Amino acid sequence: MSAQILPVATRAEVRAYARRLTLRHPRALAGALTLHGLAAVSGLVAPWLLGDLVEGVRSGTADVDLVALVIAGFVIAQGVFVRFAYYASTRLGEKVLAELREEFVDRVLDLPLSTVERAGTGDLVTRTSRDVDALARTVRMAVPETLIALVTVSFTLGALVLVGPVFILPCLVVAPLLWGCTRWYLARARDGYLRENAAWAELTDSLAETVKGARTVDALGLGDDRQRRCNVGIRGSWAAERYTLRLRTIYYPMVETGYVIPVVGTLLLGGLLYINDMASLAQVTAATLYVQQLIEPLDMLLTWLDELQVGGASLARLLGVAAVPQDREAATTARPDCERIDVRDVRYAYREGTDVLHGVDLTLRPGERLAVVGPSGAGKSTLGRLLAGIHGPRTGSVSVGSVPLVELPLDDLRGHVALVTQEHHVFRGTVRDNVVMARPDASAGDIRAALEAVDWSGPGLDAEVGAGGLALSPAQAQQLALARLVLADPHTLVLDEATSLLDPRAARNLERSLGAVLDGRTVVAIAHRLQTAHDADRVAVVEDGRITELGSHDELVAAGGSYAALWTSWHGRTH
Ligand code: ADP
Repeated sequence: MSAQILPVATRAEVRAYARRLTLRHPRALAGALTLHGLAAVSGLVAPWLLGDLVEGVRSGTADVDLVALVIAGFVIAQGVFVRFAYYASTRLGEKVLAELREEFVDRVLDLPLSTVERAGTGDLVTRTSRDVDALARTVRMAVPETLIALVTVSFTLGALVLVGPVFILPCLVVAPLLWGCTRWYLARARDGYLRENAAWAELTDSLAETVKGARTVDALGLGDDRQRRCNVGIRGSWAAERYTLRLRTIYYPMVETGYVIPVVGTLLLGGLLYINDMASLAQVTAATLYVQQLIEPLDMLLTWLDELQVGGASLARLLGVAAVPQDREAATTARPDCERIDVRDVRYAYREGTDVLHGVDLTLRPGERLAVVGPSGAGKSTLGRLLAGIHGPRTGSVSVGSVPLVELPLDDLRGHVALVTQEHHVFRGTVRDNVVMARPDASAGDIRAALEAVDWSGPGLDAEVGAGGLALSPAQAQQLALARLVLADPHTLVLDEATSLLDPRAARNLERSLGAVLDGRTVVAIAHRLQTAHDADRVAVVEDGRITELGSHDELVAAGGSYAALWTSWHGRTH
């Protein structure tokens, strides 16, 4: 699989983050824990009284009605405490979850564009859907239930010691068994679940690719190949799921056995002690009931450990998104002193070790039209992206007025140079929202002027557009994108014709709008039609990652190089 998967946070990072998250709301946490503690204590009264009752019945001094009444009272009290304890911990869980979600969205929006392109959408989609869901389940259910179980287990063990320290022995005997097999399981589960999620991401990627390229698959008869790839993905996912299932089938039976042993052990031990007059019937009864009562919270604790692992794996993947290094350096305070863009000895590689640009030098003259031509795959679009500051060069520099583009804060960068592509996403919101995002401090007058400049033919400023709102025609969506450009007002535009706004169907309506946007700016047009080169002030020929020819159309034709050959063959064909 070619996509480079996004990083995953380490165990220590996840633990540190979980700790910070837990302690972020100390008062709410203390409140919830106190309520759970009160509920646990209320639940411990009944076995104690039952023990006394058994003893009392034997000696004929029992007041059954009173004891039953008191037990009923504590059961009701426990119910009330549990209700408020759940309420408090659920509220806390939801609050933490909302914060987690917001942080994750911030992290994703902060990802460098180059990383998103490289990571493949499958991984990112899995992280935003499956991992966020898994984490939500963990925070909503596993975390509060684990807390409750911990509190209950601690109090119950405390009560057991109060009844008679010796009764804790059977529990101590199974503790190593439970501890040992839980450790065995946990040591394997994290990686197992990580692999399971990664296998899912790969499968999603492969499926999405097939669906997206369905026509190509159909046209080139790639069906079998795609199916084989999907099968490989499914096999990987199956193997990963089977592994975690195997872990569970070994672990759970051992744990279940571990629960029964202490109950039986306490009964036996209690019986022996009672026969030898070393314990009262009340103590044996209470102790056995307590040990029996331990099973539920202990089981809850161990069950949720599994879920906590899944949540931990998801959290590691969500936190990992933040570990992606920014491809922009720390923003400088230096301001460009002019509008000239200089490219100096630029090399760039998408994959380490394979440069696609091999030392490009170029100076854009403010106000000129430069056409970039050359064979497909030569590096024209890559050069365009570097000129627009989307990628930073591997070595060398691309600067505006002596300031490297990658050191400019993004908001400033957009005021200098912008890449114009066919991606004209209409965001959900009003027409105003869609335009103003290019310059958030723009006045209503500026927005109206920007829309007028592109001959806006759509609904008014306050109309809701995008998903769920008014549907805009492709031409209108492109006009919105152009209006954004007018508002951002960059002095230089990089126009990638292959993906440019000049969609032939909408071209005629849009040509005037585009003309208005290009007017008075420096324009670099990555030309796929030689007519564009003919009309430009200068032409740069890019071949195999280098600029091999640079000059006006007439100069290059006169020089008789590759451009001249291209021009002659194209001219010959069309005239
Ligand atoms: P052109 O625009 O001249 O057709 P490009 O700049 O798109 O050329 O591509 C130059 C080289 O870089 C090609 O070999 C292409 O395969 C490679 N390339 C382009 N985009 C990517 C990418 N996102 N990841 C990896 N390689 C890429």
